[in-house]
Amino acid sequence: MNFLEQRIMKDGVVKEGNVLKVDSFLNHQMDVSLMNEIGKEFHRRFADRPVTKVLTIEASGIAIAYAVANEFNVPMVFAKKSKSINLEGEMYVAEVESFTHKNRNNVIVSKKFLNADDHVLIVDDFLANGCALQGLISITESAGATVEGLGIAIEKGFQIGGRVIRNLGYRLESLAIVDAMDHTTGNITFRKQ
Ligand code: 5GP
Repeated sequence: MNFLEQRIMKDGVVKEGNVLKVDSFLNHQMDVSLMNEIGKEFHRRFADRPVTKVLTIEASGIAIAYAVANEFNVPMVFAKKSKSINLEGEMYVAEVESFTHKNRNNVIVSKKFLNADDHVLIVDDFLANGCALQGLISITESAGATVEGLGIAIEKGFQIGGRVIRNLGYRLESLAIVDAMDHTTGNITFRKQ
């Protein structure tokens, strides 16, 4: 087991509705040294890519993206959730359905911060159905920029997102892939990688 899988086994809590709670170390209280380790691991895995920007979505992707961007020594940009509809022109916009909140949001990135010369590494904390990643891919490609890869801390391998993104031909690296989890026993099974 790698460092993240070990931490999930120790502190992750399986909830009803296919939700894995990791809020004691990843997305509410944050273990800063774990974040730094995640940053180093994605840097190692994507070292062959000419990354110029790291892109994520608020809020829980921000800390991971910061750690990754710090390793690549490039800027980090996070897509903001926005209710406003009058954004065409200055903003790239994508519609994203939230897995955890079950609502739809426009997410926006200012055209000032992504352009056709950029080589983008997209990162996020979780991958479930892939809606968040597809929104970030769409924003990157609207800018004419190149998606160099996608880095996910925890992929839920029993949901469709990972398969969809890999089938589209993108390089997707997940530090932990949960293939099964059971809220009645608390058991978590990781995919061997
Ligand atoms: P997707 O768009 O792939 O369906 O869902 C990804 C987003 O939903 C992530 O940004 C993450 O914030 C949230 N998410 C999905 N599944 C889980 C989960 O099991 N636990 C937590 N804490 N967040 C999740």
